[in-house]
Amino acid sequence: MSDCLFCKIINGEIPSQKVYEDDKVYAFNDIDPQAPVHFLVVPKQHISSALEINDSNSAIVGHVFAVVANLAKEMGFADKGYRIVNNCGEDGGQTVGHLHFHVLAGRNIGWPPG
Ligand code: AMP
Ligand code: ZN
Repeated sequence: MSDCLFCKIINGEIPSQKVYEDDKVYAFNDIDPQAPVHFLVVPKQHISSALEINDSNSAIVGHVFAVVANLAKEMGFADKGYRIVNNCGEDGGQTVGHLHFHVLAGRNIGWPPG
């Protein structure tokens, strides 16, 4: 999508600090980190939010979780743990309209969220 921030990051129009990439997803550091480890995993396909997940595109969600499990082992935060967050819609706190999963690690993240 031409006016989408994360599509522009995926295609290199806007710079980012890449963490991981394959044919289906791109992962990069969040510009405003909320934990020592805070990166975003986004599908390369433009999907506006979790509300647009259906049976024909839901495989990407499982792939994201598998990618994060591998990165946790490679990056060294598997043992202590991590949190994957998806914000959906206004009340969910979503500010960018391209499906993304936050990965937070490196401190105790706390619960419940604010
Ligand atoms: P959300 O509020 O769940 O939609 O998350 C959007 C996230 O994108 C926020 O944590 C922002 O800090 C992050 N963000 C916005 N612009 C950029 C950017 N250019 N590079 C990296 N992260 C960004
Ligand atoms: Zn997009």
